[in-house]
Amino acid sequence: MIRFENVTKRYRGAAKPALHDVDFEVQRGEFVFLVGASGSGKSSCLRLILREDTPSDGRVVVLGRDLRTLANRKVPYFRRHIGSVFQDFRLLPTKTVFQNVAFTLQVIGSSRGFIQQAVPEALALVGLAGKEKRMPHELSGGEQQRVAIARAIVNRPQILLADEPTGNLDPATSIDIMQLLARINAGGTTVVMATHEAGFVDQMQRRVIELRHGEMVRDETHGGYGDRSGLPSLAPEPERGAAAVAALTAVLELHREIVETGVVDPVAVDAAVVASSEAVEAAESAEEAEALDAQRVAREESAAALAAATVEQEAAEQDAAVPAPPPPPEPPRTNPIPIADAVEIDLEDLGVADRLGLGDQADDEVGPTS
Ligand code: ADP
Ligand code: MG
Repeated sequence: MIRFENVTKRYRGAAKPALHDVDFEVQRGEFVFLVGASGSGKSSCLRLILREDTPSDGRVVVLGRDLRTLANRKVPYFRRHIGSVFQDFRLLPTKTVFQNVAFTLQVIGSSRGFIQQAVPEALALVGLAGKEKRMPHELSGGEQQRVAIARAIVNRPQILLADEPTGNLDPATSIDIMQLLARINAGGTTVVMATHEAGFVDQMQRRVIELRHGEMVRDETHGGYGDRSGLPSLAPEPERGAAAVAALTAVLELHREIVETGVVDPVAVDAAVVASSEAVEAAESAEEAEALDAQRVAREESAAALAAATVEQEAAEQDAAVPAPPPPPEPPRTNPIPIADAVEIDLEDLGVADRLGLGDQADDEVGPTS
């Protein structure tokens, strides 16, 4: 789907190439992290994929097209298959949330009817239903990035490129954004995300390509990679009703706590699974009060379990002669997979997945994938 063949990129006037002999292939549906320090060449790679730039040597093939031979006049059409998100969001400050997402569609001549349908769907998918009329400055950083993501996926691209999308966000918000990208990927969109934040990358257990001074020094598939059964099927949408949202809030809070405390304890996860299942059951019986109560229980149980786990871990650390032991041999996942399974809210139920190209169906719009 994306192939770099011995790609070297030299910028005019630069002593050293920004990319040197970079060679990799990304398959359809993959989630790939492009990691490396500032200046290592991540953005250069993404620009080559978008054909904003061309290699000095080697070949870049994207969606079956050799970008060297792609005619300039075809570039705008080629780019319609690729969504991009950036660190600085790049929203139009004088346009509303809705207008920001609609704008690209208007530019490419989508019908009014399609825009009226696709924009709210995209906003719902990123969790921004109801905020259509806000201006960008009325949103938090995380919400602004969600608008940018909605804009990037509204035209159902096959590839989503994200260049340090969490670079301006706090850790908790960053996790939300990463989960959103993971969910978009789970719908079939190939995602390439550049980041220098190694912490998140390790938690996600996805393929990692590392650049150092323009050279590829690592191409690693983490544990769990390739086994899609273990990948998180992530958060549902508000349409499901307040009760389900309440259940998920509990789940996400647990996840956040795990991420922030660095403590992962199966007991805590189990407690949250049980509690969130209860919340979902309550949601299905449409008893919002019950659901909210279950959410409270979920929070309390997970907080208590986490506190216990923290104490245990601290004790263990003090006992141990060596400082800061690495994660246990088989660490439980740091993402809320069991919880998401328990909640089991299907994007298809929400009726937006297919129309956004996030369903299971194969996308045959563009020919050869490599
Ligand atoms: P990263 O995104 O990993 O921070 P970049 O791809 O932006 O890295 O940059 C890689 C190297 O190429 C850096 O040394 C940078 O200074 C240089 N570079 C990037 N863009 C240009 C450009 N347009 N002109 C000259 N040098 C550039
Ligand atoms: Mg960069």
